[in-house]
Amino acid sequence: MIKYDYLIVGSGLYGAVFAREAADKGKKVLVVDKRPNIAGNVYTEEIEGINVHKYGAHIFHTNNKRVWEYVNRFAEFNRFTNSPVANYHGELYSLPFNMYTFNKMWGVVTPDEAAAKIEEQKKAAGITEPKNLEEQAISLVGTDIYEKLIKGYTEKQWGRPCAELPAFIIKRLPVRLTFDNNYFNALYQGIPIGGYTKMVEKMLEGIEVRLNTDYLEDKAGLDSMADKVIYTGAIDAYFDYKLGNLEYRSVRFENEVLDIPNFQGNAAVNYTDLETPWTRIIEHKWFEFGTQPKTVISREYSSEWKPGDEPYYPVNDDKNGELYKLYKELADKESNVIFGGRLGEYKYYDMDAVIASALELCDKEFV
Ligand code: FAD
Ligand code: UDP
Repeated sequence: MIKYDYLIVGSGLYGAVFAREAADKGKKVLVVDKRPNIAGNVYTEEIEGINVHKYGAHIFHTNNKRVWEYVNRFAEFNRFTNSPVANYHGELYSLPFNMYTFNKMWGVVTPDEAAAKIEEQKKAAGITEPKNLEEQAISLVGTDIYEKLIKGYTEKQWGRPCAELPAFIIKRLPVRLTFDNNYFNALYQGIPIGGYTKMVEKMLEGIEVRLNTDYLEDKAGLDSMADKVIYTGAIDAYFDYKLGNLEYRSVRFENEVLDIPNFQGNAAVNYTDLETPWTRIIEHKWFEFGTQPKTVISREYSSEWKPGDEPYYPVNDDKNGELYKLYKELADKESNVIFGGRLGEYKYYDMDAVIASALELCDKEFV
């Protein structure tokens, strides 16, 4: 007995966007999620009147007008601009790398002086064609910034030496010879007022959602209820890790409610030295310019994923890329199952890219 056109595994952004579009096209959909809440990694929960990003800080940013207009159908966005501060053994630097950073690091005042300093350090390191994250970072910003603001943070975040990580990871960060502390080069940026959970709730309005339901624990039963499955869980888990497991980084969040209105004066402070055990501290109220008497902070500790942990970041290096390819071949042979999202495609996607990808799938599915 087929009751649904689509069974959607995962109520994160990929699943929620697909579910909304399918329902609007008159399709019958069922969304299941193994967590007790919707919204996947963008889930926010109110604590002391503050929307706490329970699975890590999320700042929405995009250059994609279609995606921006899409999310604005479900939430109003505030004017938050991400400008994290780097704390290296108590020395504070502006991020992303810009004239404030260069001035503090070297005392340079003009863009020409900063460019000359970077060029001098790049030349001394003898890098012409960067082959990994370390070489890429040094050729972008020089050795001093690499040593103080990149090396420790990256090795904590990824648990691997920078020389063994792919260069593209660091290319996510802008390098500017201007006094612009905006972390992103995006046309559109902000935080949904009232939190991401409210936004995803609105996407899923009128759609049947079953929480605390692990698809892989009742695969046959759930499969029999729908014509097609949209699977946004981990691709290797789907195949019961039969080719070995893909590597992920996990994160542990240590949350604290403090009886003070202001702990660090900024939403994100990155601890870029290797010695501080956490990678960053998030003070959630600043995402929404909070005026609450208390504050909630989260220390983030990065770790290698092991069974039972939440897989957060795919490790997109060559070794995992090869294994992913093999899983993808298996996935392509699964009739009536579409793999999507950060875990389903094992891809270091930002939110906007996940939404764009879900909308592209909808364009193909609902012609
Ligand atoms: P997810 O949100 O992971 O959703 C997948 C869902 O599937 C989950 O709810 C999970 O419980 C469910 N699921 C998995 N397996 C099963 C199963 N077997 N049965 C049932 N349900 C299952 N992007 C940005 O644009 N800006 C940011 O600032 C940003 N910050 C980030 C910070 C962190 C710490 C992390 C980890 C990511 C960040 N991202 C950011 C990326 C962003 O989180 C993702 O792009 C996006 O949330 C992915 O959506 P998704 O639907 O693919 O996956
Ligand atoms: N990074 C760094 N120092 C910082 C912030 C970031 O070296 O203070 C590096 C690190 O390798 C990280 C990458 O830049 O993985 C991309 O940073 P981004 O903030 O985009 O990571 P996200 O947590 O959003 O995935």
